[in-house]
Amino acid sequence: MEIEPEGSFEAPFEMRSREVDAASGKAVISYLICEPLESAGFINAFSTRTGGVSSLPSDSLNLSLFKGDTKENVQENRRRFLQALGAERHAIVTAHQTHSTKLCRIDSAGQDGLDCDALSTRLSHTLIGVQTADCLPILIADPKTKTAAAIHAGWRGTAGRITERAVASLMQSGLDPRNSIAALGPCACIDCYEIGSHVIDLYKKEFGYWRYLLSKFTDDGKAHLDIQSANIQQLEFCGFDEDRIHVAPHCTMHNNDLFFSYRREGNGQPSKVGRLLSVIGKS
Ligand SMILES: [Zn+2]
Repeated sequence: MEIEPEGSFEAPFEMRSREVDAASGKAVISYLICEPLESAGFINAFSTRTGGVSSLPSDSLNLSLFKGDTKENVQENRRRFLQALGAERHAIVTAHQTHSTKLCRIDSAGQDGLDCDALSTRLSHTLIGVQTADCLPILIADPKTKTAAAIHAGWRGTAGRITERAVASLMQSGLDPRNSIAALGPCACIDCYEIGSHVIDLYKKEFGYWRYLLSKFTDDGKAHLDIQSANIQQLEFCGFDEDRIHVAPHCTMHNNDLFFSYRREGNGQPSKVGRLLSVIGKS
């Protein structure tokens, strides 16, 4: 096996696996991190589905409190996840996500479960997170103002320009997009993300550049959405440098063994599918 010399390989994303304590001995938790965010002083991680205690279907690392899982399971899974990140002293703050375009600023770790789909914080010892299973998670950091943000962008939030709105709002309180870093995590890729006629119509209405976002039109009125490009467009519109926008190469539907996928597993029943968690906060 060839071993890369230390420090010689600077891929923006790295899959890490860590052994953590479990009732039966040890469990292995794997997660994806964006190295530029880490180098800028931000703990960050996009979770995978393995190494937990949830029955979704078994040993699943579901990190979201929802009706398909128990509170005890989610607490144990989050404990394992934090231990794997070396962030045992950090609190996790998530939102009650409703596919809105609302941003909540978190200035106390007690602000858990607010209704919104984007969160930001400058707190220490706090990781803000968004829950997904095919939708696009976006993590943002501004090293100068020490601001972290997490965005849940599905087709609905993206059509409502959640990323553009969240960044514009953070710019009002000092975020500098030219010095900020964005990481787009695992989501359904353009080959997998099929949409129906009402979503096609919505995108045609909302975006003059819809031809850049939609492709593979079929005779029965369907097409495919490039949700990554749609959100990169919004980041660049706000002033992000393309060199500071990093896109994870993983698709939740292609890599269903590693990631939860509502479209692959859901069959119209959201409670049957676990949720991934993407977190960011100051180191
Ligand atoms: Zn795919």
